[in-house]
Amino acid sequence: MLEVLRRIIQEVNTAHDLDQVLSIIVSKIRKSMAVDAASFYLVESNKKDFVLRKTDGLNVDAVNELRLSIDQGLTGFVIRTGETQNIACAPKDDRYINVPNSGDDTLNAYLGVPVIYQRMVLGALVVQRKESRQFNEERVAFMMALASQLAGAIAHAKIVSDPQYSLGADRSKEKYFSCIPGAPGVAIGTAFVLYSSSDFNSVPDRKIENIDDEIKLFKNAVSQVCDDIKEMQSSLSDVLSDEDHALFDAYVLLANSDTLVNETIGRIHQGNWAQAALRDTIKEHTIRFNEMSDEYMRERADDIREIGLRIFSKLHSGKSTPIKYPKRTILVGEEIGATQLAEVPAKRIAGIISAKGSNSSHVAILARAMGIPAVMGASNVSFGWLDQCEVIADGYQGRIYVQPPPIVRIEYSRLVREESQLKKELKGLRKLPAETSDGVKLKLMMNTGLLVDEKSTHKVECDGVGLYRTEFPFMIRSSFPNESEQVDVYRKVLKATAPNPVTLRTLDVGGDKPLTYFPVSEDNPSLGWRGIRVTLDHPEIMITQLKAMLKASLGLTNLSILFPMISNLEELDEAQTLFEQAIFEVRQEGYEIVTPKIGAMIEIPAAVLLAESFAKRVDFLSIGTNDLTQFLLAVDRNNARVVKLYDSLHPAVIRAVKHVADVGKKYVKPVSVCGEMSGYPAAAVLLLAMGVSSLSMAPTSIAKIKWVIRSFSYKKARRLLNTALEKEHGYEIRNLMFKELEEAGLGVLIRAGH
Ligand code: PEP
Ligand code: MG
Repeated sequence: MLEVLRRIIQEVNTAHDLDQVLSIIVSKIRKSMAVDAASFYLVESNKKDFVLRKTDGLNVDAVNELRLSIDQGLTGFVIRTGETQNIACAPKDDRYINVPNSGDDTLNAYLGVPVIYQRMVLGALVVQRKESRQFNEERVAFMMALASQLAGAIAHAKIVSDPQYSLGADRSKEKYFSCIPGAPGVAIGTAFVLYSSSDFNSVPDRKIENIDDEIKLFKNAVSQVCDDIKEMQSSLSDVLSDEDHALFDAYVLLANSDTLVNETIGRIHQGNWAQAALRDTIKEHTIRFNEMSDEYMRERADDIREIGLRIFSKLHSGKSTPIKYPKRTILVGEEIGATQLAEVPAKRIAGIISAKGSNSSHVAILARAMGIPAVMGASNVSFGWLDQCEVIADGYQGRIYVQPPPIVRIEYSRLVREESQLKKELKGLRKLPAETSDGVKLKLMMNTGLLVDEKSTHKVECDGVGLYRTEFPFMIRSSFPNESEQVDVYRKVLKATAPNPVTLRTLDVGGDKPLTYFPVSEDNPSLGWRGIRVTLDHPEIMITQLKAMLKASLGLTNLSILFPMISNLEELDEAQTLFEQAIFEVRQEGYEIVTPKIGAMIEIPAAVLLAESFAKRVDFLSIGTNDLTQFLLAVDRNNARVVKLYDSLHPAVIRAVKHVADVGKKYVKPVSVCGEMSGYPAAAVLLLAMGVSSLSMAPTSIAKIKWVIRSFSYKKARRLLNTALEKEHGYEIRNLMFKELEEAGLGVLIRAGH
């Protein structure tokens, strides 16, 4: 049954729209379960009715006609309650309704399973047979597994099959895809879809200008694949049996076959680029082979995919087609990394849309640092048809509009204008301190991982760099930067920021910050080998980095060094030992440097509980609320599915941060907050009241937070903190703070649009 499940899912993934998806599902289920009817019922948009959307076995005339309320019938029951029903003789059940002309008069056994996606019932899969006997457990389990595996594909197909998203559709009504806000701002531009070389489905259609060149590229890729296969064959010739040899020969034949080559070339002639042409050829043949009853022939579908992927990957890595990014590029992809961002010329990048990740993912953080609006968790959008379309990415509300109607474009252009107006107004605060109306000052610093420009406006408006994520310069290279390359990067930042302080954090890779040249594959990367764990296991990396930081500070006094992801005192002690060794070596080499301050990040719950022991050993503490929230609430910061649970205003987060702030006061050690929470107006007031020494945030948030701090008195903030600490729910804290921000005239910062 598992194999059947795998094949159905594979085939469904090749379908273009809801109709195709459902046709595949019902016909495959009917065949594999040997039932008399398999059907899919879809919940209508009013959520009160459902309709027979596809069937293999019932009367096809009833499709789209058989419509009932969810209060009616057995299927209505399945949809309403979300419970599977397995009934030996449905007509004898009180809930059964016989719908004339539906074709189920002779059917007795009934198995209905709900199809649920993100807590919403989309519809029900129903199988029926004449024989009056309940379905056995294995069949029920198979149907339930199928329903849960296919729910995402059905939800997705439902969206892309919406007439709104078909070419030439009437787009006068405002419709959008609802995703997750990643980085604030609105981008209006042209989608440029990035695709993965290991996934056909992610390849967008793309018009080509020169058909002959494209065919040449394709043929080249095919011949490279054939050469690779032959080379593999000859290097293994001693160990291969005759049968294996024949298989390699067959692969070469397949790669050169009419099926693959001529059909793809035919599609290129129609104006599509080679990748998409190949995608369609492979899809078509996978379906055709999968349909065959002969097991051996069905397995050939896998061979075609395999060969196709090899050609595809050659096309992908071929450097021959220079990439032309649109003027206002909205980069769209499954998972956008720092490298891909860095490839787009800075003047052309307008926005980001990522299928994976959430607002605390590092891409979102990077986007905020660069001031680029980003929408995350766009897994409900099919990217294939988006390429080169006009798109609006609303990073405030997490919305995507594709080929928006004029009315939407006008509205968003107005928002963009208002945004730049607000920016201008905030400019007036640039040189003023973040000081409350009763004279309490708070340092506002910036988080960055990019080079800080000497003339940067952010330098004027903030008090230094509170967190320099050194992993970003590591991520955009193709190998580990050596000591002198690192010295260059760090020195530029230290010099540009002086005399203000800079906190350089030691390498914090792992989790969602992979290094391509240092691959680590783990089942649970957030809890795995990351941050200080990597650098303590590789002291050569740590020592090189520490020495580079120290040498970069020559003649300057503004360096602090921060260790990430510390979970126990042994790690802290080891890191400090390496630090001392680095100082010793650098001084031995003749550098007369000032000993920098050393800090530990508090971003693991254990560190909160050990904050006192940490405070005794370091010069300062820095609370990483992004990871702290993730670990306190057990919510993966990159997982769009659980984004609603990721809440920096959760009472547990507020209380944990408050505890660390109190420890800092007790031991007279500065406490900085360097997670994204610092840049949230509602949280900033509470952090101010906790008495933290500084807030470090994305440069684009500084002016707004300065405005917030200047709009409150410390006394009022303390009162609000005391009230917030009594609350038991995150939403109560949020409501309390939003109301206060509104009353302080700062509503514009929390309302959609700003
Ligand atoms: C944090 O976890 O809050 C933090 C600042 O570090 P990063 O986001 O880089 O993991
Ligand atoms: Mg962190």
